[in-house]
Amino acid sequence: MTAISIRNLSKSFGKKRALDNISLDIQRGEMVALIGASGSGKSTLIRHICGLEIGLAGESTIDVLGSPMQGGGRLSAKAREIRRNIGVVFQQFNLVGRLSVLSNVLLGNLGRIPAWRGTLGLFTSKEKLAAREALARVGIPEVAWQRASTLSGGQQQRAAIARTLVQRSNILLADEPIASLDPSSARRIMEILAAVNRDEQITCVVSLHQVEYARRYCPRTIALRDGRIVFDGPSSELTNQMLVELYGASSEELILPDTPSQPAKPKRVTKPGRVPAFA
Ligand code: ADP
Repeated sequence: MTAISIRNLSKSFGKKRALDNISLDIQRGEMVALIGASGSGKSTLIRHICGLEIGLAGESTIDVLGSPMQGGGRLSAKAREIRRNIGVVFQQFNLVGRLSVLSNVLLGNLGRIPAWRGTLGLFTSKEKLAAREALARVGIPEVAWQRASTLSGGQQQRAAIARTLVQRSNILLADEPIASLDPSSARRIMEILAAVNRDEQITCVVSLHQVEYARRYCPRTIALRDGRIVFDGPSSELTNQMLVELYGASSEELILPDTPSQPAKPKRVTKPGRVPAFA
């Protein structure tokens, strides 16, 4: 079944053509890497899929989970429901720094930030337990009561993924989730995303620069250049020549030389039947 179906999507900002006639289908349960140089249109595409960019031109359509996201220049009546099924993880983590990590994860239940301070009182003990399990799932149960602002970048990104687990999304869109992380934290985040995709059949679209991670964790890659799809196929078929064309002289920096050829298996540390965790 199709999770995301886009036809003839174009988007301009003034004279700048950010997306140029994009058409693609992503099936449920796929794990897809979105690659391309800065400014190639990755974020704009992701923002359209999750309904943060509104106003489709001409023949453009975006269907998510079988329903149109937009119609008549605005979000469709079903969009609110669809958006609940889409978890988004941004490069900048977008956690509320003054709240505890647990509160941030619990906010996945609401899809919005409440105006008042006492967040924990809003949730049932079942929801709190699910949030703690989600933190265990991404390997950071011990930071539940810390302020989000005190976490490292990798931990914040894990907490952001835990929030989408609580949200019980069918689709997870991650916009450069590893861009500001060191290689070891980046690898952990990719392992967690790959495991979430594999174990829960959550459709994942991950934009990134490091092509080696795309090859290693995502069976399919879509490459953008100047707002157009220039490659869409098995990640193993991405050639170095394509990378040079995509990234120019800097392409060598985007291939990590010291990475093993197989992804490390996430370590399961909980008993069978419990939520698995990642060390
Ligand atoms: P990427 O995520 O691949 O770096 P973006 O989707 O952020 O690329 O940007 C694609 C192009 O659209 C860039 O040229 C960028 O400057 C432009 N762009 C994106 N968002 C805006 C905006 N809100 N206003 C003006 N230009 C924008």
